[in-house]
Amino acid sequence: MSDIHIDFARTGVVGFGTMGAGIAQVVAQSGRAVTVLELDTGRLETGLAAVRTFLDGGVARGKLTENERDAVLGRITGTTDVHDIAGADLVIEAATENSDTKREILARVAAEVGDSAVIVTNTSALSVTDLATALPRPERFAGLHFFNPAQLMRVVEVVRALQTDETVVERLVSLVESFGKDPVIVKDRPGFLVNHLLMPYLNDVIQEYDDGLATAEDIDTALKLGLGYKLGPLELLDLIGLDVHDHATTSAYEATQDPCYVSPPLLRQMVAAGYHGTKNGRGFRTGQVPA
Ligand code: NAD
Repeated sequence: MSDIHIDFARTGVVGFGTMGAGIAQVVAQSGRAVTVLELDTGRLETGLAAVRTFLDGGVARGKLTENERDAVLGRITGTTDVHDIAGADLVIEAATENSDTKREILARVAAEVGDSAVIVTNTSALSVTDLATALPRPERFAGLHFFNPAQLMRVVEVVRALQTDETVVERLVSLVESFGKDPVIVKDRPGFLVNHLLMPYLNDVIQEYDDGLATAEDIDTALKLGLGYKLGPLELLDLIGLDVHDHATTSAYEATQDPCYVSPPLLRQMVAAGYHGTKNGRGFRTGQVPA
């Protein structure tokens, strides 16, 4: 595997949504050229505008100069033609969370790039080991799980699929370090590391709240002050999105049959009643809270 380009100088990103925009910016800020593949030019423009807005905020706060902003933007090129990522030595797939969509993208990307290229997925909930089977060279595939917002969150999970070659893992660790971020190597489990441990905790908190252990505010205050967390679990659930957590924990349950991932009845009721958290102003700590 010594033919893997250590620097990953030419990078492709697939998908220019929430995560693709953040990831493309991180890669461009590390000095690398990035080609972003999207479905249409409208989505490319939206993604580029998101990067520009984020960088403009940095300029306004004196974190970077206008020249530095322009240099980062200048390293990002959008395309709707998969042939344009043929020269990439690393492709980061950050498209819609759907197994069929991702498998199709991965196969198309693999047919374009050279044999020495590494391909990674930013999936949150799909099995990296399963996605690897869509590729002719599964040993050169891994998960690279950024957190939202990718520009700010320091931890990145390097997910080792059953097929992933150890050299690929090592190179990805170096890559993440070159972004100024902190890599953690993790097995391919539902939720990987952070969400694997977070989901049962949030499910327990929801059940305890429903059982009347304490008020929502007191649960958050106690866990913040008692454990030194920045956010209480119920505020965090509102931010994540109750619907998003319900979907993630239900997927983890389906994959593992582990009862700790069963979505609590109150959560399912709230999602059915349209409580989606901060994004629609209705959640555990947002708007009128169900007693
Ligand atoms: P998003 O919906 O904001 O963006 C997905 C983008 O992929 C869309 O712009 C869509 O047009 C594009 N896309 C779909 N099919 C495509 C194709 N065939 N070719 C090119 N582009 C295509 O989604 P997101 O929140 O950015 O999530 C992307 C991935 O990152 C998912 O796998 C998700 O699980 C993962 N993830 C999301 C978060 C989060 O908090 N949003 C955090 C970590 C990981």
